[in-house]
Amino acid sequence: MTSTSHSKNDTLFARAQLTTPGGVNSPVRAFRSVGGTPRFITRAEGPYFWDADGKRYIDYIGSWGPAIVGHAHPDVVKAVQDAAARGLSFGAPTEGEIDMAEAICRIVPSVEQVRLVSSGTEATMSALRLARGATGRDTIIKFEGCYHGHADSLLVKAGSGLLTFGNPTSAGVPEDFAKHTLVLDYNKPEQLEEVFRSKGDTIACVIVEPVAGNMNLLRATPEFLQTMRRLCTQYGAILIFDEVMSGFRVALGGAQALYDIQPDLTALGKVIGGGLPVAAFGGRADIMQHMAPIGGVYQAGTLSGNPVAVAAGMATLKIIEQPGFYEALSTHTSKLVAGLSAEAKAAGVDFCGDAIGGMFGLYFAPELPVDYATMMKCDKTRFNTFFHAMLDEGVYLAPSAFEAGFVSAQHDDAIIEATMAAARKAFATLA
Ligand SMILES: *Cc1c(COP(=O)(O)O)cnc(C)c1O
Repeated sequence: MTSTSHSKNDTLFARAQLTTPGGVNSPVRAFRSVGGTPRFITRAEGPYFWDADGKRYIDYIGSWGPAIVGHAHPDVVKAVQDAAARGLSFGAPTEGEIDMAEAICRIVPSVEQVRLVSSGTEATMSALRLARGATGRDTIIKFEGCYHGHADSLLVKAGSGLLTFGNPTSAGVPEDFAKHTLVLDYNKPEQLEEVFRSKGDTIACVIVEPVAGNMNLLRATPEFLQTMRRLCTQYGAILIFDEVMSGFRVALGGAQALYDIQPDLTALGKVIGGGLPVAAFGGRADIMQHMAPIGGVYQAGTLSGNPVAVAAGMATLKIIEQPGFYEALSTHTSKLVAGLSAEAKAAGVDFCGDAIGGMFGLYFAPELPVDYATMMKCDKTRFNTFFHAMLDEGVYLAPSAFEAGFVSAQHDDAIIEATMAAARKAFATLA
């Protein structure tokens, strides 16, 4: 497929595997879905990064979302340098944390109070505990194909029926934890109706990616989100939007702004740290009042609200809040998807794409997938061939047929054009 033998990437990957399981610190980086050797990145700037062999790529993962203003943006780098010079971490509060909380409450429609953490996993895990603590209930509902980080209760797949509890998807998750999680199908509001009818008063929360980005990009139907909003209110359950990916990405105010639906709690991450570890969970003040030190739900973090990370996040928020930022981002993302679709059509390849804000999905399928089942029908083998052809041409897509892609403000018309030229060759290998 690719001529990577004797490359520095190979040498580094061999070395990495000796001291790190699978050679990577997060599984999807290992290229196991697409085959081949992962590229070890040495530096990044704007829309590009470079690997250990000095090969340049147009980057369409942007650190899986955070790099929305482009890599190494001078304002963000300066904010980090200035903050670092004042000290890296204090374990005591700083004014920057207030600034960030105020910015989140201003930008994200449903958030009245917020707590900062260091990863999306921490944010969703803490939001779940809060929902359980605030309602005094144990059962949670999630949806097949949504990813919410790697907390025990969330690494669960559907059981044998709608009302049977789930099974762990990871070794090491006790059945006893999985048995509190019900897993339903995405975009099937009738399943929610049925489950709430029989178990509504035992359900602590529903957690959902309001635009799904971890089974490729999949749009929620308005009816699906409206139904869960209505049922949660009716039965006293808490609605959690996991906007770790969609927040500040599909629109400034996230998916909740796009759909005009107010969840009770929201998990944020990725963009909010601008590339450094910041995440957050927040929402209704009356629910957030259950958090320690004022309430009974415990949660803490040595590096939570870290001053250097918060500085990177604030510098990023300042850029994305500028008027016209999302219009330009959406225009470029739509252009990319329209261009790729046209190239595929010219080559006679079954392909379609979708874009929301600065996020996109590419599907080797004749029609847009509408749920998890149709998503799984996309041609993975064709994607893998296309992925490697694009990589050879210097375009780095997510190394899996079932991940979304990300565009930054630095992906201008020239970058999109260069991507089209690469795609023309890549689709030709499939024809
Ligand atoms: C990435 C992601 C997470 C997990 O965030 P980490 O920072 O990787 O722990 C949770 N939810 C969603 C929707 C995500 O995309």
